Amino acid sequence: MEVQERRTYKAVIGLEFHVHLATTTKMFCGCRVTYGDPPNTHTCPVCLGHPGALPVTNEKAVELGVMAGLALNCHVADRAVFARKNYFYPDLPKGYQISQFDEPICTGGHIDVPTPEGRIRVGITRLHLEEDAAKNVHVGTSGRMHGSVGSLVDFNRGGTPLMEIVTEPDIPSPEAARATANQLKDILRAVGVSEADMEKGQLRCDANVSIRNPDGTFGTKTELKNMNSFRFVERGLARELERQREILENGGRIEQTTLHYDPETDEVHELRSKEQAHDYRYFPEPDLLPLELSEAWVSGIQARLPELPEGMRARFVEDYGLSAYDAGVLTSDRNLAAFYEKVAAEVDAKQASNWISGDLRAQLNEMGVGIAESRVTPQHMIELIELVQNAEISRSTARTVLEKVFETGDAPTAIVEREGLASMGGDELSGVVDGVIADNPNEAERVRAGDKKVIGFLVGQTMKATRGNADGGRVRELLLEKLDS
Ligand code: ADP
Ligand code: ZN
Ligand code: MG
Repeated sequence: MEVQERRTYKAVIGLEFHVHLATTTKMFCGCRVTYGDPPNTHTCPVCLGHPGALPVTNEKAVELGVMAGLALNCHVADRAVFARKNYFYPDLPKGYQISQFDEPICTGGHIDVPTPEGRIRVGITRLHLEEDAAKNVHVGTSGRMHGSVGSLVDFNRGGTPLMEIVTEPDIPSPEAARATANQLKDILRAVGVSEADMEKGQLRCDANVSIRNPDGTFGTKTELKNMNSFRFVERGLARELERQREILENGGRIEQTTLHYDPETDEVHELRSKEQAHDYRYFPEPDLLPLELSEAWVSGIQARLPELPEGMRARFVEDYGLSAYDAGVLTSDRNLAAFYEKVAAEVDAKQASNWISGDLRAQLNEMGVGIAESRVTPQHMIELIELVQNAEISRSTARTVLEKVFETGDAPTAIVEREGLASMGGDELSGVVDGVIADNPNEAERVRAGDKKVIGFLVGQTMKATRGNADGGRVRELLLEKLDS
């Protein structure tokens, strides 16, 4: 048997995102954009596709699209054209989706992404605006069409503003794909163009993946459709790369297909092959004028662009002396970053970072809430950190107090007082220290003689005697004072 030459398998990945824009009304009509309202309560002749109903472009949606484009370092076109993308599906009553085709609003951007393999720059090919389809609800199953007894259509989502963002095939691994998706989500949230809540389906991702040919050229790609969790994007891509590698190792060829990744079985299934894909017969939407985006209007938006996560991270490192990692954690959530800045203005910035990116965030995660929904305020955090700094409570007591702030929304000082959590101090602590010295004459003598190592033992004995209800630093000070004289 011939021994096959070993080859390396270099992944090539490009991502496509669909993002719901944070507008109050739909893309081409005045119906409200809502989540979870009763089906078909936000519809009109335009978004139901009645013949003769005329669309009107939502200016806010265009503004948000341009904002996103600027945040992604894109070129904003001075002219953009809506086009009809023709296909049939029950969730698309007009028989076409209004989208953009060869003249999108934004092109040629990039984002810089920290990945396990280092920083990479991922090109943004294009960003365009379109309308979402309605929502098909399959009855009698867990939601899949297969095996259902019938399907219903909820047109509340039909015609809601959607932005599509396409990256260049610049991403080298499933891990980097996940990092890229996260970075994009952070940027969109920071700019405020979308809540980008994946559980509400506000952000969906398709992943294109191939393995480079031995000569370095691109191989045939497959596409993993419609993933609503970045963890699954990473796992799905890893699984698909494994499948492609196996085919190539067995001398086979990759077929260009569209796939679905099932996280439960960790398998990919073919949806439809590209050869049978629709011909969308795009043509310019005759009912809408091209968008004319004046330079003045675009630079007005540029001027209002909020600070982006990258810039904010660098500023946190510079202004507060934080590590890049801590700065990254704090700035990944705009509300948390604002919370941090209020606290760091009053107390030691490093302490504030430790508490907020550590204990506070852990409790938020545990309860599954954001800082904005929790009962903890910056003032609470400042008080808590000051209590620890002034040695009025120990660090471990402070953790308990923080939990109680979460539960009750009461101020830390009030909780400490009410529950008698203050560290032992004054004469009481002094008396306990005297007792420990009396009970351990040998160790005390060694400290007096200059052997400072034994001090730890005596601190430990004192903490034990107070049942941990004392500040270790204060105890140490007291012992040294008493044994020095
Ligand atoms: P299609 O014509 O199939 O829509 P495009 O060239 O428009 O393909 O690219 C769609 C997406 O696929 C983009 O995100 C792009 O970066 C990515 N892509 C293109 N070629 C490859 C490839 N060989 N391997 C992986 N991803 C690719
Ligand atoms: Zn409508
Ligand atoms: Mg394409």
